[in-house]
Amino acid sequence: MTARLIDGTAVAAALRAELTARIASLPFRPGLTVVMVGDDPASASYVRSKDKAAAAAGIDARTVQLPAAIDQATLLRRIEALNADPAVDGILVQLPLPSHIDPAAVVEAVDPAKDVDGFHPLNVGRLAAGRPALVPCTPLGVMRLLARAGVAIAGARALVLGRSAIVGRPMAALLLAADATVTIAHSRTRDLPEECRRADILIAAAGRRELVRGDWIKPGAAVIDVGINRGPDGRLTGDVAFAECEAVAGAITPVPGGVGPMTIACLLLNTVEAAERRRVR
Ligand code: NAD
Repeated sequence: MTARLIDGTAVAAALRAELTARIASLPFRPGLTVVMVGDDPASASYVRSKDKAAAAAGIDARTVQLPAAIDQATLLRRIEALNADPAVDGILVQLPLPSHIDPAAVVEAVDPAKDVDGFHPLNVGRLAAGRPALVPCTPLGVMRLLARAGVAIAGARALVLGRSAIVGRPMAALLLAADATVTIAHSRTRDLPEECRRADILIAAAGRRELVRGDWIKPGAAVIDVGINRGPDGRLTGDVAFAECEAVAGAITPVPGGVGPMTIACLLLNTVEAAERRRVR
């Protein structure tokens, strides 16, 4: 038996179409401003994709490009101006920032109601407390993929591999809120393969190429691969050894074409949600 393929590209396209219609029915255009400091080529490429996707959905998307040498106080003043701008519903500061800037200070400067990345401590705390919040886009995208694939979460054993603030921790909080029995594994976990074998739902977000092997998978499990690792040949690979795991899992996401496209679609979702909360509700 081979696993059902969870097609993230298709699920993301459907979500974007749904959001485009929802935006068209609003009496205003939601505004998203991406703040980019410096000119790191990888960040610039992410920012361009976010900008393009937002504009295509009908969002008023802007990028504020700031020099790498900008001082922290000036950057914080720019963010405060965006907080005060009624046309701006979502603010995203592209990370990483230059080393002379404290990322925590920048994240905390963003108005929590406009924090479409879901990184502000107020949103982190709300999510941890099981209250409504703006939630980080990648784990939000994973929850949508599980729902679309018909994976039953309540009561299931879920293993989140990775404990970062942007993926692993919010992922675990969302699965817990959906009534899974959640384990978080990380670089210090003992007997990782055995932990994985117990999981009905396995979310791999370690950033280690093909770490998860076929004999780590519980037969029939749902396997979601968040990892993006670029090999020496330039090819993208996930954290899951796809061919081996596909033979055992019940459902699995590919890389590319799995979680990646959902992350940007969920940024648009967060922007629309933030706009509606501020302006409509
Ligand atoms: P990170 O480096 O901040 O965190 C990795 C986590 O994995 C850490 O908690 C670490 O303890 C754990 N880990 C590392 N090696 C391990 C090992 N051998 N065994 C067990 N645990 C191990 O990374 P991140 O920012 O959370 O990203 C994780 C991966 O997801 C990366 O490949 C990243 O590129 C990818 N990513 C993808 C998207 C997307 O849109 N698809 C978004 C964000 C991150």
